[in-house]
Amino acid sequence: MSLLVVGTVAFDSIHTPFGKVEKTVGGAATYIALSASFFTKNTGIVSVVGEDFPETTLHKLKKQNINIDGLQIIKGGKSFYWSGKYHEDLNNRDTLVTELNVLADFNPVVPKQYLDADFLMLGNLTPAVQQSVINQMSKRPKLIVLDTMNFWMESMPQELAKTISMVDVLTVNDAEARQLSGEYSLVKAAKKILKMGPKYLIIKKGEHGALLFDNKQVFFAPAIPLEEVFDPTGAGDSFAGGFIGYLDKTKDISFDNMKRAVIFGSAAASFCVEKFGIDRLLEISDDEMHDRIKEFINLVQFDIQL
Ligand code: AMP
Repeated sequence: MSLLVVGTVAFDSIHTPFGKVEKTVGGAATYIALSASFFTKNTGIVSVVGEDFPETTLHKLKKQNINIDGLQIIKGGKSFYWSGKYHEDLNNRDTLVTELNVLADFNPVVPKQYLDADFLMLGNLTPAVQQSVINQMSKRPKLIVLDTMNFWMESMPQELAKTISMVDVLTVNDAEARQLSGEYSLVKAAKKILKMGPKYLIIKKGEHGALLFDNKQVFFAPAIPLEEVFDPTGAGDSFAGGFIGYLDKTKDISFDNMKRAVIFGSAAASFCVEKFGIDRLLEISDDEMHDRIKEFINLVQFDIQL
């Protein structure tokens, strides 16, 4: 069993109402792989960075059993850079800067040992690069999950629609689901998006939880009401990493098991937001995960006789 993760490995500058960090390590693939590595020990990354990317972070990834053979380091190049500023409510943010840098000419190469990966997580990245990775796989993975964002909906809608048509699960936030479908109702949006190709759709609603749809049913997972949220950056990616990491660990892609995976993804996201950047994901213990899952169970348990 193995999991291949594609996405950005990046520098982020983040402003939240609680503080500011400049050029900290982030990127969709970084968050996804770190979150998945809690559940599964054979995760590989396909991505690109510049020579400016810190060696120490590469060591941290390797220490979490994340294989970086597919992470290209471009001599003299600059890593992808993103900067965002959160509003008071933390559910909304403005992108201040997106510099593609080495991502602009990225030609992904899937390492040999991941060509037959059972699980493929296409993190936020150029849609054409995501397609190239699907096309390189020697057999169709059991499950392909795609995450994307408004940036690609606006700049490359046709390329993105093609990638969406090739995957099993799409994860987007509520605003992106509305933008992609042109529907305000999330139920109508889900119906339209599922017609674009995926069998399952996950709509993330930040501190208001997440919805999992297929053609027939819908499941809702709450978010844990946290006392302190420092930095929501990477929450969506950590969710995706926990979701697919749990599916890889349990090897079961039924709707019922996806419900559990959504809870584990939500738990991973809840840890991610407790500190700036990737720091919290590097130190989740088994006991902490156990206690947090218990909190989810208690949060939604009630007794009604019908
Ligand atoms: P999230 O908060 O889960 O949406 O993910 C935030 C991460 O996505 C940051 O670490 C950024 O480096 C990365 N990111 C931001 N914009 C893009 C983009 N257009 N394409 C790929 N990754 C991005």
